[in-house]
Amino acid sequence: MATAKIGLFGVATLPPTHNHRITTASSHHRFIFINSRRSLRTRSSSSLTLRASSDTSSSSVASPGNAVENVVIIGSGPAGYTAAIYAARANLKPVVFEGYQMGGVPGGQLMTTTEVENFPGFPDGITGPDLMDRMRRQAERWGAELHHEDVEAIDVKSSPFTVQSSERKVKSHTVIIATGATAKRLRLPREDEFWSRGISACAICDGASPLFKGQILAVVGGGDTATEEALYLTKYARHVHLLVRRDQLRASKAMQDRVYDNPNVTVHFNTETVDIVSNTKGQMSGILVRKLDSGEESVLEAKGLFYGIGHSPNTQLLKGQVELDQSGYLLVKEGTAKTSVEGVFAAGDVQDHEWRQAVTAAGSGCIAALSVERYLVSSGLLIEFHQPKHEEVKKELTDRDVQAGFDITLTKHKGQYALRKLYHDSPRLICVLYTSPTCGPCRTLKPILSKVIDEYDQSVHFVEIDIEEDPEIAEAAGIMGTPCVQFFKNKENLKTVSGVKMKREYREFIEANI
Ligand SMILES: Cc1cc2nc3c(=O)[nH]c(=O)nc-3n(C[C@H](O)[C@H](O)[C@H](O)COP(=O)(O)OP(=O)(O)OC[C@H]3O[C@@H](n4cnc5c(N)ncnc54)[C@H](O)[C@@H]3O)c2cc1C
Repeated sequence: MATAKIGLFGVATLPPTHNHRITTASSHHRFIFINSRRSLRTRSSSSLTLRASSDTSSSSVASPGNAVENVVIIGSGPAGYTAAIYAARANLKPVVFEGYQMGGVPGGQLMTTTEVENFPGFPDGITGPDLMDRMRRQAERWGAELHHEDVEAIDVKSSPFTVQSSERKVKSHTVIIATGATAKRLRLPREDEFWSRGISACAICDGASPLFKGQILAVVGGGDTATEEALYLTKYARHVHLLVRRDQLRASKAMQDRVYDNPNVTVHFNTETVDIVSNTKGQMSGILVRKLDSGEESVLEAKGLFYGIGHSPNTQLLKGQVELDQSGYLLVKEGTAKTSVEGVFAAGDVQDHEWRQAVTAAGSGCIAALSVERYLVSSGLLIEFHQPKHEEVKKELTDRDVQAGFDITLTKHKGQYALRKLYHDSPRLICVLYTSPTCGPCRTLKPILSKVIDEYDQSVHFVEIDIEEDPEIAEAAGIMGTPCVQFFKNKENLKTVSGVKMKREYREFIEANI
């Protein structure tokens, strides 16, 4: 990292700002947003009152302490965002907890995939993260209130329900659970030791990292996820082994054909993954596998192991409150989104272990939101909502700004030139975010970290490095997966943080080191 290299350089682009659009009418109701939060109750959706306000300041839309929301939506996969779009368009002003860490990243499972070829409306396909960006923007455009926060507790035993996130407590007449499912782990003896240092649950996020490029890799699992990951990894790896416990693949026929036709994938049937093997430098060098038919153990050379072994429904918060099936999936009344608790609705993979597709999740999100509207109307609980008329428009950096040159007085930068300059010249704490273009969690972390950096403007420098654009610097920094954050001061690497962590973790470290 010490050798200076002249290359492209610029300041980091700010995360896209999504501005609330002023809606003047909907198919059901007419209303004007005003600057305070909701106040009036209405008897039915068709009797919403028209309110006006001259106040156009950009105030927060956070609820006053004792307000009761129409609906809280938990989850931001296709189910959660679709529910948010429908609920927002029905003037319910949904409060959406998009999640952060507990049950996967905001945007859900599609943030970990590349091309989605079967979502209607995209004849040429669309990447998972792009699709989820679009859904998010659509929900926000219609007035959904979005929070990048995990819900930590829910009380649906008494009404109104209480939803407690990492940063706020919200009361609501209804809740839509759209928390999806989380990738399962194998719980290998050395799993924690090699997590993010060889083991990954996201080939799409980590496959391009220097650690894995040109190496022999393995994927464990026999379903669609595992086969997709194995095929994806052949773009970067020298060879990919697919470790399958059974004597056949569970993946769709089309995926099986693609795997068998690919000379860079070897499928090992009846094979159990036992543990990770390391070399004398403590780096992952292989996988201990056992043949289930003969019991024979051997070491398979591999620098990385990717998990593709399925998912568990994210229903821990509801245990003991809402009926679940034996595997923990939420039970809904057939053909509806209704759970065992009146006012609690479910959508998406959290209640569906059979179809598990983006479009079925989106469809069930729609059903849940329409059910919420009906329920609120029939119970006389529907509440008028208000929104700021105008919101401050943050200027996004243009390409010209980015090309304009390196300026050490600016806080945010992008690319290896800036990092090399700052590494040598900056007296400040330098926070480096390593990302890759197909990494969904990177898109989640970027705006979050950017906001934290804003709190310490002029005391820190921030640099974003795309590891595909700047592979040398990623290699020099020992980056093994994305997203990854490193903190430097006075040419010393103070800390490396892999994955997406709570905001307070970054804050606390910055505060202790500026
Ligand atoms: C690798 C891969 C590729 C796929 N490819 C396709 C494809 O090509 N086409 C297709 O149709 N389907 C595909 N799928 C399946 C599809 O992604 C899922 O069916 C779909 O995402 C389910 O949507 P969901 O909204 O129910 O849940 P998820 O997408 O799982 O989203 C759940 C959301 O809930 C949030 N959450 C969880 N717990 C909490 C909490 N406590 N507080 C707040 N938020 C929380 C999470 O952060 C997340 O935002 C793929 C899945 C995978 C894993």
